[in-house]
Amino acid sequence: MISCSIKRMEDKIVTFSKFGDTGRGGITRLSLSPEALEARNEFCKRCKELGMEIKTDDMANIYATIPGEEDLPAIMMGSHLDSVVQGGNYDGVMGVLTALEAAETIVTEKIGHRHPITVVVWTNEEGARFEPAMMSSGVITGKFKKEVMLASKDTKGVTFKEALEASGYMGDIENRMNPNDYMALVELHVEQGPVLEAEKKDIGIVEGVVGMINYEFTLTGQADHAGSTPMKYRKDALFAATKVIGYLHEEFDKLDSKLVYTTGRITASPNIHTVIPEVVKFTLDARHQDPEVIKQVVEIIQKVPSEIEKCQMSFKELWSRKTIAFYEEYVDFVEKNANEYEYSSMRLYSGPGHDAQYISDIIPSTMIFIPSENGHSHCEKEFTPLENCLKGANVLLQTILDIDRK
Ligand SMILES: [Zn+2]
Repeated sequence: MISCSIKRMEDKIVTFSKFGDTGRGGITRLSLSPEALEARNEFCKRCKELGMEIKTDDMANIYATIPGEEDLPAIMMGSHLDSVVQGGNYDGVMGVLTALEAAETIVTEKIGHRHPITVVVWTNEEGARFEPAMMSSGVITGKFKKEVMLASKDTKGVTFKEALEASGYMGDIENRMNPNDYMALVELHVEQGPVLEAEKKDIGIVEGVVGMINYEFTLTGQADHAGSTPMKYRKDALFAATKVIGYLHEEFDKLDSKLVYTTGRITASPNIHTVIPEVVKFTLDARHQDPEVIKQVVEIIQKVPSEIEKCQMSFKELWSRKTIAFYEEYVDFVEKNANEYEYSSMRLYSGPGHDAQYISDIIPSTMIFIPSENGHSHCEKEFTPLENCLKGANVLLQTILDIDRK
């Protein structure tokens, strides 16, 4: 079977790791920052060298296309080039570099294809500089209002609109991907979790993205002096919060073992070491592929008493998303190709969100995962061995060619 080039793959990884290099094995490449623009320039330079036609839309998404032999809708592959602060060299960028390598293989090996093939770079996937995450795929699929997104500010007060205009990558709204002109998106991504490595699998066949809920709980007690208030008179909101968290863990653990849940943010007020906490807020993020399990999670939340340890308890949903199932035929292509290359593989759902999840609303989409060493991601330790990156690129290439032939 045809293979992408491991030498070229390595060169791409090494080259792109310089844009935003922290010097400690990772990168800080915030969306539309000078470092991100360097990465974009390098991407476009390489695409031009391959004879690809480059367009950008009004959200600065980049579409680089190899023309097809027939007048047909295009097949898309790609991901994002931006990172979080002190992020790694694999999240997002690997989806772009494997797509670029697959395109380069098609061009240099003169592999015939009927459909145009487009490598896409989505703007501001991370939402690390301008909130929210998956901003541009969200705008073009109607999830977010563009005017609201343009007003999003970074910590220096720069708006997304200002950064877009200064980037040189803002194109015409006409250039946005039109669902009639595209028949597929395949996004390769690092798993960002420990499962593939632990199960000794090269390729993750991603069936969809798990549904999730995000709640905020508020416990309200009474701030009093830490020295003069006997324990029995206290209304300690932080102590009450630990009881709620403990209860939720106990109950959730009785549900399906694939359920994951997290309290990632907690704030105490007044947050002074000599004062009993008066108000404590904490979040609860819960994810599972089966909506029934999520429903049970919500039922458990609703059963939390409104008074705990003499404190008042309330909760509200901050946001939620439904489970997304990817396009079955393309999911099957990924599995078939992993088998044909004799790479080990397994089916799984993505816990994190990805651009493909929004795009799958408007065109048939799927994803390919490759392992993350020790499950590390969104940190400088993020790593995937070169051989695994090449395997991912090969499966991506064959999947694109299968879609082309169907
Ligand atoms: Zn990503």
